[in-house]
Amino acid sequence: MPAIAKGKTEEGDKTILHVEMTGEPSPCPSCGFSEVVGFGKRTQSVADIPENGKPVVLQVITRRFRCKNCGRSFYESVEGVGGNRRMTDRLADWIRNEAPSRRFTEIAAESGLSEGTVRALLRASGDYERRKREQPN
Ligand SMILES: [Zn+2]
Repeated sequence: MPAIAKGKTEEGDKTILHVEMTGEPSPCPSCGFSEVVGFGKRTQSVADIPENGKPVVLQVITRRFRCKNCGRSFYESVEGVGGNRRMTDRLADWIRNEAPSRRFTEIAAESGLSEGTVRALLRASGDYERRKREQPN
């Protein structure tokens, strides 16, 4: 799904990248029907890889559609953002890479996520227990 950059703003120590989804709508996730109509928009905040040691947040405008076949409405998914995660897949990879050599609080501060979110991600990917054994705190 293509997305276009709409600009960049600074907010405190965070860089906000404004992005809007464009292109053909995705088919209905419930029935697979491809005829859907626009049904509103929302802005979704997604954390991305930090830049120069500062958090980067994507403010993505995603579109809502309604299926002409089954009548269900749905938001389009954002490429590179898995499931209900509020971060990009590449940020998740970045955190897993940083985790062995840095404290969770540092990773959280640099990425703009809470420490709990960082812990939950690493726990889900199995890195957390290993880290706790190696560096108890
Ligand atoms: Zn449908």
